[in-house]
Amino acid sequence: MIFDIKRFAINDGPGIRVTFFLKGCPLRCVWCHNPEGISPRPQLLFNQKKCIGCDTCLDVCQQNLDPRRDRNTSVDACLLCGNCAMSCPTSALELAGREWTIQDIMKVVEKERSVIDTSGGGVTICGGEPLMHPAETLAILRELGQHGLHRCVDTTLYASEKVVHEVGNECELFLVDLKHMDSDMHLRYTGVRNEQILNNIKLVSQQAHPFWIRIPLIVGVNADVANLTASARFLASLPHKPEVVNLLVYHDAAIGKHDRIGSRFNPDNIDMRPPTDDEQLAALQIFLNEGLEAKIGG
Ligand code: SF4
Ligand code: SF4
Repeated sequence: MIFDIKRFAINDGPGIRVTFFLKGCPLRCVWCHNPEGISPRPQLLFNQKKCIGCDTCLDVCQQNLDPRRDRNTSVDACLLCGNCAMSCPTSALELAGREWTIQDIMKVVEKERSVIDTSGGGVTICGGEPLMHPAETLAILRELGQHGLHRCVDTTLYASEKVVHEVGNECELFLVDLKHMDSDMHLRYTGVRNEQILNNIKLVSQQAHPFWIRIPLIVGVNADVANLTASARFLASLPHKPEVVNLLVYHDAAIGKHDRIGSRFNPDNIDMRPPTDDEQLAALQIFLNEGLEAKIGG
């Protein structure tokens, strides 16, 4: 179940890549910028600003629903057939998520093959959380491997050791999110504890599997000196260090997406904001001081 495809991606691993976004994630990060990736089911998105009120969507719905009002609330009634979205003349309605075959995926990749090869790029499987769907993720990775493509998996590593091990055997690089070192804070901001994630980062490191670490920098959540210092020291203590630590500046671009899904952004009104330029540089210095390769951005 794929909800987005990014061609010419330059921040999802080395070179120029094609990134596939798998739908479904066990975490609930308060800043999530892909909220349409959380549910493993397809979802209707509605953009009020694009709607011209033509009522075509009402006419084509076999279930007599009004998709503008009933989207994702009458899940039992809605067949998620996508007829309303396909008929909407302004794309005010979109269906996020549809099933793809491996052959569909490979057709997309092969179209970009020359750019991938000349740039030293590849394919990245992202989410949502790809490790929530180990069978599908492994099947895609194996097919990509048979075609000689470089494979990245962008993940929280919130999965069993067995899944991490199996996926690690089928990809060249993990891009691992590290959100908070304090498990209570991790639970508060993402909905899950972090012990399994930290253990899996250690596991990947012990196996000398190449990995990058990606830390969203969010003032009010995790960009304080204590957490960044704990993160840097943890990473520096690993037997094999990350190839790079990417400090990703938080932005609130997801607010519009939440409106379109019908969910609420930051429902607990956590006071969070992007770091200033000075705060970004101070954060970067913490990681450099621990001898880690680090940079602002992907
Ligand atoms: S078909 Fe699209 S533009 Fe027309 S009423 Fe429905 S959502 Fe609005
Ligand atoms: S996805 Fe299909 S069933 Fe659901 S509201 Fe649209 S047309 Fe109706």
